[in-house]
Amino acid sequence: MKTVVYPGSFDPVTNGHLDIVQRAAAIFDELVVVVADNPNKKSFFSIKERKTFLEALTEDIQNVSVDSFDGLLVDYVAERNVDALVRGLRAVTDFEMEFQMALINTQLHRGVETVFLVTSTEYSFLSSSIIKEVASFGGDVSTLVPSIVDAGLKKKFAARVDK
Ligand code: ADP
Repeated sequence: MKTVVYPGSFDPVTNGHLDIVQRAAAIFDELVVVVADNPNKKSFFSIKERKTFLEALTEDIQNVSVDSFDGLLVDYVAERNVDALVRGLRAVTDFEMEFQMALINTQLHRGVETVFLVTSTEYSFLSSSIIKEVASFGGDVSTLVPSIVDAGLKKKFAARVDK
């Protein structure tokens, strides 16, 4: 039984993240998508909103569950039966950071492996930041994020304009 954790900010979840979720769920027995609640990083959507999106979007995938954590990822992993971390790689630019994180995680918690899944080409340009940037100017991101996220972005930005 192989259980893996897919950690990230998911602020908000994009079709690129969901692609990684679906592909990882097809390889491993159990996949836990873990939403990082990092007080040092100001998020656009609250931890509750980010989790709710992911729960709704993965409810039909039997072996996927959603959780959150607000500390060190290695502590989360150490307290549970986790075989590996899953991360996505979009470009060479992701590699440097991901490489560093994978190494620090093995330093902090010996034995924790990181498995990288390479992005599907159609999502290789997609990030949560670019989505927020485009949506903030009223750009159409409906083909790049799930419809509930698209609606959530519209609602948030409309509320900001009204202020
Ligand atoms: P973090 O802030 O931890 O990087 P993100 O939510 O930005 O969290 O990303 C979580 C993981 O998903 C990272 O490993 C990131 O590289 C990966 N990822 C994000 N977007 C894509 C995408 N379009 N294709 C493949 N992997 C992706």
